Amino acid sequence: MKNIALLTSGGDAPGMNAAIRAVVLTAHHYNFNITGYFHGYNGLIHNESKSLSLTDVNGIIGRGGTILKSARCPAMLTPQGIQQAVASLEKDQIDALIVIGGDGSFNGLIEISLLWQGQVIGIPGTIDNDIDHTDFTIGFSTAVNTAIEAIDKIRDTADAFERVFIVELMGRNSGHITFNVGISSAAEQILSFENFDCADTTARLTELSEDIKRVQTNRHASYLIVIAENLWPDGCSSLAQQLTEITGIDCTPCILGYIQRGGSPVAKDRLLATKLGVASVQAINEEKTHLMIGEQNNAVVFIELIEAVKHQKKVNSQLIKAQKDILSVTNQTQI
Ligand code: ATP
Repeated sequence: MKNIALLTSGGDAPGMNAAIRAVVLTAHHYNFNITGYFHGYNGLIHNESKSLSLTDVNGIIGRGGTILKSARCPAMLTPQGIQQAVASLEKDQIDALIVIGGDGSFNGLIEISLLWQGQVIGIPGTIDNDIDHTDFTIGFSTAVNTAIEAIDKIRDTADAFERVFIVELMGRNSGHITFNVGISSAAEQILSFENFDCADTTARLTELSEDIKRVQTNRHASYLIVIAENLWPDGCSSLAQQLTEITGIDCTPCILGYIQRGGSPVAKDRLLATKLGVASVQAINEEKTHLMIGEQNNAVVFIELIEAVKHQKKVNSQLIKAQKDILSVTNQTQI
């Protein structure tokens, strides 16, 4: 018999509920007690928890968000906060802690493990897909699909009026969503951390303006730029305004924002979340610890937590090169 604690932390991601369900079902399979802590690490610090039954996870596989709620928890960045979290784990006689979240959440788990003897397991759940050593994180596929659906609609109206749209996508400081969505939406341009240097702002403005004028004059069609959040100085609206002023053509900004986080998880996320959720409790049963449960080439992998947070996962270099050399409209000189 083991007592397992489970929490979701950092940005919520579609598929977190599917992972919670898989953890709870597997824990019950092994006759382990499973306790959910609410609002990320805050639940540990402030003793907000609930024993999770099979009924609690009935019907949640298709729901976005997380039934355990999520939150940032600044207290975890202080030694006192970490000590409080550890004190709760000891008071509640927890043997193993599973955290579903991003690299920040994993860093919290590593800090806890320095003061606490229990088993610690991380499940990668973030729409950003920026965690190293796992092909995908839970929530990424749904976020990409949601953004593509939204952009297809924007494209319809942009085509009708031959308009220029600049769509800002989430991803914090990585371009996985931006590149995957941009390429899948046949965006004329993709601007992301991997292909843009802030020092080049003036040169890129000139390039983009000339390209927009050329394509709009010759093709009479829409022109779509997708851009990563936190990239352009003062954001996507500022880029739109600058391009409008230089080209004399209306460039409309559109920030997709939080719709990328919500919605029912796609099959790929439900399956990934279920596989990782089951494997996390199996790992605990086998006395494994200090691991992230990830997936590579369709197989579950066990990665040292410390390795998982060492580097941010890079965007596939073939995607970046294909966009630069072939797919970007700048290459289509016949237009
Ligand atoms: P996402 O990628 O979706 O934003 P994340 O897990 O990376 O998810 P963060 O906001 O970076 O999100 O981290 C979530 C929480 O993890 C923080 O609010 C904090 O409680 C804890 N945390 C982050 N970094 C550390 C750290 N270095 N030490 C201790 N705890 C941390």
